[in-house]
Amino acid sequence: MPLRFFNTLTLATEEFTPQRDNTVRMYTCGPTVYDFAHIGNFRTFTFYDLLRRVLKRRGFKLDHVMNITDVEDKIIRNAMAHSQSIGEYTETYTRAFLEDSDALRLGRPEHMVRATDHIKEMAEAIDGLTSKGCTYEKDGSIYFRISTFPEYGKLSHNDFTGIRAGARVDVDTYDKTDARDFALWKAAKEGEPSWDEGAGPGRPGWHIECSVMAIKYLGETLDIHAGGVDLTFPHHENEIAQAEALTGKPFSRFWLHSEFLMVEGQKMSKSLGNYYTLRDLFAQGYSPECVRYLLASVPYRKALNFTIEGLKSAATAIERLRNYKLRLETAKFPSGSNDEMQARAARASAAFEDSLDDDMNTAQALAAVFEFVRDTNTAMDAGEFRDADAASALDVLERFDSLFDVLRPSIKSDAIADAEVEALIAERTRAKKSRDFQRADRIRQELLEREIVLEDTKDGVRWKRK
Ligand code: AMP
Ligand code: ZN
Repeated sequence: MPLRFFNTLTLATEEFTPQRDNTVRMYTCGPTVYDFAHIGNFRTFTFYDLLRRVLKRRGFKLDHVMNITDVEDKIIRNAMAHSQSIGEYTETYTRAFLEDSDALRLGRPEHMVRATDHIKEMAEAIDGLTSKGCTYEKDGSIYFRISTFPEYGKLSHNDFTGIRAGARVDVDTYDKTDARDFALWKAAKEGEPSWDEGAGPGRPGWHIECSVMAIKYLGETLDIHAGGVDLTFPHHENEIAQAEALTGKPFSRFWLHSEFLMVEGQKMSKSLGNYYTLRDLFAQGYSPECVRYLLASVPYRKALNFTIEGLKSAATAIERLRNYKLRLETAKFPSGSNDEMQARAARASAAFEDSLDDDMNTAQALAAVFEFVRDTNTAMDAGEFRDADAASALDVLERFDSLFDVLRPSIKSDAIADAEVEALIAERTRAKKSRDFQRADRIRQELLEREIVLEDTKDGVRWKRK
């Protein structure tokens, strides 16, 4: 089955292949580093990671750029409140973002680029737009004149003809002649950081950074541009206007948008105060894998309602899969293979892949895996499962984990190493052999305190991390 994505630009599910060199040129809108990101933000960033993995699994190479917005109103306000430069202030939250991304096992884009490292290129692009007659200046700020770009609205499928000046559709507080016009460059304000790169003293508007950095690293036409659904309008619409007015070429072939993480019917957001950071959830004892699983389990174009119950179900699901894997690796099955089991493994793998090809239907992909786990567990209980079937079942799990990546427990920094666990288990077995049961029990207890659970089976000792 070909890989298909729903394209916001055409409102159709389309077959995807990159335009050249088997390489996907992809741009995703990154974080504004003014505070810790919440798990709503991380739903979107997890979607980017899944997208990377789905594309890689198809054999495509990736050239992926993500921006870090490190100059913006909230950043300036917060940095000033902390008596820090915006560089110092954003460093803290950029580092936190990277740590959280690593904890969630999010693949790093090939280029992570900061807005403040590209101010000169932005000023040049604005100059280019000015020479094409697409801008005007007012009180030292420069605006994009939307009336020069007749296709405005083609991504959000909005008809803007009825909107008149004064009907505010953008959040900008600067003066402009048409309500839709947006700031490319904001005039310097007293006490705020500013740059003077040819557009007059000031700082860039938010939208220009993405168009400029995408074109700089990936060329004039991207294969995929992605972001959260709230960015469709005005941010992505503005990115298209800037880029296409400048180059005369289509800015991106595919536009993918992920839906929100919700809390009781409302978007999780800083302003509503209904949010959790990853750090909040780790402090409550939830592992990064639980959060990752929960965020990945609902297809990206469906809203996901966040509950602690949902997080607990994610933990249970992971536990089930880990136990299943342990059983496959440690139980002794009769030799040979069972055709029926082999056929089931092939069916599960095909259903898993087909679901992902279908606009990344992760819920359906999961359903295929769990059906397989249930059926094969039953077959094991009935003695119908052979050692070659275990190898095929492990392949199914590996396929699942190459996308979901939750089977390996995160190692806490004070965790005991595998080799030490094995050594203690060997010592416990020796103690038991020499009938020193007290010593054997003490070792079991010590391991338990270090979050290692032992299980004595007829095939020997199995262990796992709690
Ligand atoms: P920001 O750091 O505010 O620029 O947002 C970073 C990303 O998080 C953007 O792509 C937003 O679309 C996304 N985002 C913000 N809130 C949510 C939410 N509740 N659910 C999913 N994505 C979100
Ligand atoms: Zn952007």
